[in-house]
Amino acid sequence: MNGSFDPLALMRPDLAELVPYRAESHPGVVKLDANENPYDFPPVILEEIWHRMGKQFFNRYPDPAARRLVEHLSAYTGTGRDGIMVGNGSDEVILNLMLTFGTGGRVLIATPTFTMYGVHARIAGAAPVPVPRRAGFALDVEAIVKAARKGDTRLIFLCSPNNPTGNPSPPEEIAAILQNTRALVVVDEAYQEFGGESCLPLLEEYPNLVILRTLSKAFGLAGLRIGYLLADPAVVELLMRTKQPYNLNAFSQLAACTVLAHREEFNGLIKRILADREELFRELQAISGVEPFPTEANFILFRTSLPAERVHRELLARGVLIRNMHGPGLENCLRVTVGKRDENRLFLEKLKEVLGA
Ligand SMILES: *Cc1c(COP(=O)(O)O)cnc(C)c1O
Repeated sequence: MNGSFDPLALMRPDLAELVPYRAESHPGVVKLDANENPYDFPPVILEEIWHRMGKQFFNRYPDPAARRLVEHLSAYTGTGRDGIMVGNGSDEVILNLMLTFGTGGRVLIATPTFTMYGVHARIAGAAPVPVPRRAGFALDVEAIVKAARKGDTRLIFLCSPNNPTGNPSPPEEIAAILQNTRALVVVDEAYQEFGGESCLPLLEEYPNLVILRTLSKAFGLAGLRIGYLLADPAVVELLMRTKQPYNLNAFSQLAACTVLAHREEFNGLIKRILADREELFRELQAISGVEPFPTEANFILFRTSLPAERVHRELLARGVLIRNMHGPGLENCLRVTVGKRDENRLFLEKLKEVLGA
């Protein structure tokens, strides 16, 4: 009936430039592109999840406050229960922060970093403002404090250890920012279990600090989408107003509780990933035309003498998927996740082939 219907004409004009998130899918390749935990779940935990799942009734809505999970997170982090909010991945929590505090204002982002901060700011109708990191990717504390004084700055996004650069920020630097702004300072600690000093001890002193965490990386639950936020209870209370009531499904809540109850099972895997990271770093350093950057996370950023796009493509043709990070401040850089030992070896072998080393 209506041949002239044009959905684009109805879309918010400020979203016209957004492109859908695309995760590369290449069945059968060695997957070192998404910073996932490469190991199978510890069997005792898996058994317990299946066992407990048998007693669940999936016809009922999940607990919107995820009280059992919040209790586990409180025990894990030492934060009070009213200072914790869970999300369908920390991605959802980032969007909640933008929707609650960012819309119509400015959001500072210490770049280069995780691209989802900018995307979620745009979706929420906030203006993302990049504040470039210094050479070596340390925070430019002065520039951040100065930029935060301008206009209507609502949020400041920092990531430590930073994705994709791998370097952590000392809590003293973050405290210097917290002390000098009335904006909310969000520190994304998605990789905290692998290294870097946590900002948790600063929570008591600074009501404008928000810490983001996830079970997607060290705890191997990327597929179940479980993230959480630690903040002053007054901040959490405001965030609860925009949270989808049933954002975290019953199965994910159950699995997350089980994982946290047995979290020491992951210590061995984390140790192994850290040891393999050191070896992978040394091996990368030894390849001419490759410059790896120091890291405290489960991935390594490195620069190559060849164009990153070509390295990425030729590695993929040889069955190894990593992430091309080429862009401002990251010229000819790629990011590789620490995988299992044989995966790391294959990656190194193919990289040497590609670089003709
Ligand atoms: C992987 C990652 C996350 C995790 O996101 P989830 O939605 O919890 O899977 C958050 N922040 C950064 C910087 C990441 O790299």
